[in-house]
This record gives sequence, C-alpha cells and structure tokens, in this order.
Amino acid sequence: MLEQRTLTKETVEKVGETVTVFGWVHARRDMGKLVFFDVRDASARLQIVGVPPELATDEDREALSALRAEYVVAVTGVVQQRGAKQVNPDQATGTVELLAKQVRILNESKTPPFEIDNEERQAGEELRLQYRYLDLRHERLARNLRLRDAVVTFFRDYMHAAGFIEIETPILMKGTPEGSREYIVPSRLHVGKFFVLPQSPQQFKQLLMVAGFEKYFQIARCFRDEDQRGDRQPEFTQLDFEMSFVDAEDIYQFTEAMMIELVRRVTPEKKITQIPFPRMTYAEAMERYGNDKPDIRADKTDPNELGFCWVVDFPMFERDEEGNIAAKHHPFCAVHPDDRALLDSDPLAVRANAYDLVMNGYELSSGSIRIHRREEQKKIFDILKISPEDQQRKFGHMLEAFEFGAPPHGGFAPGIDRIVMLLAGEPNIREVIAFPKTGDARDPLMGAPADVDARALHEAHIKLEN
Ligand code: ASP
Repeated sequence: MLEQRTLTKETVEKVGETVTVFGWVHARRDMGKLVFFDVRDASARLQIVGVPPELATDEDREALSALRAEYVVAVTGVVQQRGAKQVNPDQATGTVELLAKQVRILNESKTPPFEIDNEERQAGEELRLQYRYLDLRHERLARNLRLRDAVVTFFRDYMHAAGFIEIETPILMKGTPEGSREYIVPSRLHVGKFFVLPQSPQQFKQLLMVAGFEKYFQIARCFRDEDQRGDRQPEFTQLDFEMSFVDAEDIYQFTEAMMIELVRRVTPEKKITQIPFPRMTYAEAMERYGNDKPDIRADKTDPNELGFCWVVDFPMFERDEEGNIAAKHHPFCAVHPDDRALLDSDPLAVRANAYDLVMNGYELSSGSIRIHRREEQKKIFDILKISPEDQQRKFGHMLEAFEFGAPPHGGFAPGIDRIVMLLAGEPNIREVIAFPKTGDARDPLMGAPADVDARALHEAHIKLEN
C-alpha cells in the first residue's frame, strides 16, 4: 500500500483526524480564492476544500491550479464536520469534508470525451462504449455493477444452501438446438471441423443429471448469433439450474421462494404485485393479454413494483418462418402428460411440460421438465423431421445417455442480465453489463469483431471468399 489510506466513505467516522484519501478528481469548483473539488474512490465521494492560499506551499499551489477532472490524486487533510446548511443528505459523506493540507497529483488525465460528473448530459452510446472504462466511472453504472454482484452472490449462496453444486460446462462444444444461430469456432487441429459456442448448457446439465448430481447450477454464459434487440446481447448470463426427481410444481415453488427472497434481500424497497405469483396457461395468456409475457403490475408507472407471473403449458411445437414444424422451446422438453395421445394425430396441439417466469412484461426464464427416455426423445426428433442419421450424428450422445439410467429431471434458467436490469430500473441490459456489445453486435472499445492476420486464418484452415 502507498501509505496509510482512508477510504472516502470512512471519513464520516474520522472527524478531527488527519487522513489521506486517494482517488479521482470529480467536479472541480473555484469559489474566489478557494478551490473545491470532490475526490471519488470506489467507496464514495468526498468534498475537498483546497489548501487556503495563506497556508499553501508553492507545491500545493501548483498542484491545485493544475488539477483537472479525472486526475488521480492523494489528498492529506483534516476531516471536518460540515455546517448544518452544507450537509448533503444524498451523499454517503455528505456530513463531512476534508480541509486539505497537501495535494499530490499521482497521474494526469486527458479531458474525457464526455463528462463523468454529469449524469444528465449523457454521450451517445457508441462513444460511451468506446470509452467504457470512463463510462463505468459514472455513479449509476458503478451502482448497477454492484447490484449485479449482489444478485449473483445471492443466487450462489441460495443455491449452495439448497444443496446445489456449481459445475462449469464447456464453452467449446457441438451445436445445441435452441432455436438460435450459433457462433462457430474453427478447429486448428482438426481440419474443416468446428466447435460452436453454447446457446446454453442445456445438454450438459441434462447429462449431469444422468451422472447423478441431482442438483446442478451454474452462472452460465450463453452465446447466440441473433439479430439484436434492446434486451438481447450476443452473450448473456443465466442462472442455469437442473434438478432430478422433480416435477414442474417443485421448480415453481423453488424458484418463486428464491425470487421473493432475492427481492427482500437485495432490493427491499421493491414490492411484488402478487404472492403467490399468479399462474396462467399459455393459452390463457394469449387470450387475455395477446402475448406470452403479460405485464401484471397494478401500477406500471411505479418503479418499485415487480409483477411476477408464471406462464405454463407452452405448446411443444410451432411452425417456423419456413412453415416447418419446430420445437417451441427446445426438443428436450417433456410432453404434457395429458397430450401424449395427440403426438401423432395433431402435434401442433400438443402442450409441453414447459413454463416461463415473467416479470413486468419480460420473459425472465424458460424451463421445462425434460424427456429422460430414449424412445420419447426419438419420437420428438422424428416429429421434427430429423432423419435417423442426423439424430445419431447430432444427438447420439443424448439418446445413448438416456439408455443408462437417466432419472426424471427438469430445470430452469433465469436471465441474470434481465433480472438486474429490472431491479435497477434500467431500460436495457447494456446498462447492467460491464462491457456489452452494441445493438449490432460490435464492441467499439476493442474494435471486435476484427480481422485476424493471414497466418491465423491459414492455421485455422480458413479461406475468405473475398
Ligand atoms: N436452456 C434453456 C434456455 O436457455 C433453459 C432451460 O430449459 O432450462 O432457455
């Protein structure tokens, strides 16, 4: 450590003491002969009263006149109580200020491309993302990432306390059919072969149930090469989990209790519209609300209201854009027990044992009870018109695993980005991701995606068309 450091947040308990704070210059204000500025560190922000001219050394004077926004400084001084009128109740250190005795500049800063101390005047998103490390200095974004950390920590603790084990699954894998285009990764060692990035750990988590873990979870990164929308990103994070020997009711009850506890612990100022969360079937949701993610809040203008609801009994199949029959969620969902007889005669009328959790009109999570018998899985693949050869080539490992004592199982995968977005009251998930992509799936900070050099292409056995 550089020397005895006091965090700005700690100064409220150190009135009368001489301390040294380290941080960034935030909002410099010159008032006559006195210079005021804030020092911002990771803990909070503290008002500094510059060394009064009559007490300043040449060095102090020089430092004070050189100080600009975002300079890195060490300030030594005496913590003093602010007068009653100067107290700022909105700031963690609003009752105190530091009367500087010495100001040292540890590093300079160019003038940032946008103001850090003014939330109102936000720059355009391209610029914000290009200088994301400066954008993240904004209090709001820093607060969002801390909230995200609190949410993830809560989930990890909750899952462990409930007997789940966190297991990492591969990022380099073979395709999983969950309805999206996959990112592909060439293999250097196996000419002409490719890995794909997981759309979700779906198949691995099911295989972990076959392996006998019974309760798995993972804070899992998922990758989907889709056209982007406001609440979508090419990579996003799920609380992915799977349980054995459960039915849908177990998943509802477990998840519902967890979400209620999350809100109570992490954002206690929020209130939930209705507990237990209302449940409706997909058919009811479509009829009553015209969509499958109804916003059930009583007051949609109240930023503190959270309207959770369950939408259950999703259709098993749908027609895709080309008119072909496709899985509505994914082909591993179990068929609703009452609808087995319809599989041959009227597959589009078949319901899956599949459910969504919805909050404020957003789909927070999808899940289902899964197929765990080879013949049933084969039957679904047949209906999806996947040829026996393709079934074997693409999913032979799943069909085979189901022949070795696969237990009944099911799971769910709440989207962390959306949960944090809604708890933070942000309009899109980019505001709660440290380094998100733009709406058209680019990273302006690093400039990705980017060209790779000819040698790397050659080693990956790739020839570009032009
Ligand atoms: N893998 C599914 C998804 O990403 C979630 C699940 O069925 O558990 O939507």
